[in-house]
Amino acid sequence: DPDAMWLFGDQLGPHFHSTPDHRDREVLLIRSAAAFARKPFHRQKMHLVDVAIRRLAAELGDRAKIIEAPTYTAGLRRFGRPVVVHEPGSHAADALVARLRGQGLVTEILPTPGFVLTKAEFTAWAAGRQRAVMEDFYRDQRRRFGVLLEPGGEPAGGRWNFDHDNRRPPPGRSTLPVPAAWFPDEDEIDERVRHDLDHAEREGLIQPVGIDGPRRFATGAAEAEQALGRFLDHRLGTFGPHQDAMLSADWAMSHSLLSVPLNLGLLDPLDVIRRAEHRYRTGAAPLASVEGFVRQVVGWREWVWHLYWHLGPQYLRRNTLQAHRPLPDWWRELDADAVEAACLRTALAGVRDRGYAHHIERLMLLGNHALQRGYDPAALNAWFATAFVDGFPWVMPANVIGMSQYADGGVVGTKPYAAGGAYISRMSDHCGGCFYNPKKRLGADACPFTAGYWAFLNRNEPRLRHNPRMRHPLDGLARLADLPAVVSQEAGRHRF
Ligand code: FAD
Repeated sequence: DPDAMWLFGDQLGPHFHSTPDHRDREVLLIRSAAAFARKPFHRQKMHLVDVAIRRLAAELGDRAKIIEAPTYTAGLRRFGRPVVVHEPGSHAADALVARLRGQGLVTEILPTPGFVLTKAEFTAWAAGRQRAVMEDFYRDQRRRFGVLLEPGGEPAGGRWNFDHDNRRPPPGRSTLPVPAAWFPDEDEIDERVRHDLDHAEREGLIQPVGIDGPRRFATGAAEAEQALGRFLDHRLGTFGPHQDAMLSADWAMSHSLLSVPLNLGLLDPLDVIRRAEHRYRTGAAPLASVEGFVRQVVGWREWVWHLYWHLGPQYLRRNTLQAHRPLPDWWRELDADAVEAACLRTALAGVRDRGYAHHIERLMLLGNHALQRGYDPAALNAWFATAFVDGFPWVMPANVIGMSQYADGGVVGTKPYAAGGAYISRMSDHCGGCFYNPKKRLGADACPFTAGYWAFLNRNEPRLRHNPRMRHPLDGLARLADLPAVVSQEAGRHRF
């Protein structure tokens, strides 16, 4: 018999375990108590991962064995036979797998099918260039995998990038007029997991953050297929235009809500983008929306995965802006009710209630706030990884340390994503009913994002002065007559 295949909790789809090469293997799943015990994970995140593992075991029946063990190594020893694995998704798991291979417990490490480009291909791609930028990577991904290309190799529609069409402010209504996303019906597996988590919480074995709530994301291959089908058939067409907008009464808007099934390894990313492309080819969805979605999945998602390995574990310690403030208690405890600013309160409440916020809420509200206030980037990275249902070690550093905190000094982004209340007011409906006034930087109702923006620029002016993209904002800073008053006001601000 071939060696059994050990699957991590983020490798659960058929493209991992049931390809023609591997479908005769026994499947080993290890539920490690230690994995959740150490960190304050969102309650709904624990629920999703545990349901997904048990669902796969149920689906595979006799082919699968679940072992409960304090650690992965203990689980493997208990299993008692060598296994093959796929490349795992964190530096820690990578080192563990290498050790286990040295001990003969792991016989082979297969390339992961969770991403379309292999590590070796990325290394070769990066070796040949002075500066690795996402836009170049994305175009090469499109060329390499033949996605949205004309017969001569030109991009479909004559452009690689439709970002410009995809940055519209919200329409003048409280929700986007789009069909609802797919949401699961809970079943007896959910019931058992909820019961076990309630028990573990009562016994103090886990320290969950956020509230429990109905499960909102797919946990098995069949559910993931339904979620994907619903998105492609009903929501892809409207994905693009308002991608960057925020509405207080519409948390999902036209986003795909596919990050959980993608990151659990339930969906094959190449299949996802081919099917999205098909919607464009058949006239079912406009190019700008399809390109926007393809860019996220075959561009951004792949990019941050490969940067994780390329930049190495020490990337987590980057702190170019010397930000050392600890995360406040209300932030760590997801106490949205303690927040006055409507935009930040809404985003934090989304994390508390669902373990989810969409991209612009993560970047321009949560990330922007942390950047302005100088929260420690590594602590923030850890927070994102535990508080979000789709947070996994590989996906955080480029997004948090790099894109949102500029702690890498410009590896991922070219300038800090700091923005004041004017941006938030333009791109959302939050400001109308808010106590704070986005136009004001001084006074009791001065918007913390507006005032915080200037205080941030002032604090970091020496570090940003040489960046040509910061010239315009820094010129504005130099003209601000009331800057000392703004800076001293923000130094004393403890409520937001
Ligand atoms: P959509 O808007 O529908 O996008 C489609 C898919 O594209 C997503 O499902 C995701 O798989 C992929 N994608 C898009 N952008 C990115 C990106 N920058 N990095 C990786 N994948 C991307 N994504 C996570 O999967 N897990 C995280 O923990 C996470 N943390 C983030 C933290 C910060 C500070 C920022 C700025 C971004 C983070 N992202 C993370 C990226 C992105 O915000 C989420 O993937 C997205 O909001 C998930 O919702 P969705 O599935 O509805 O996405």
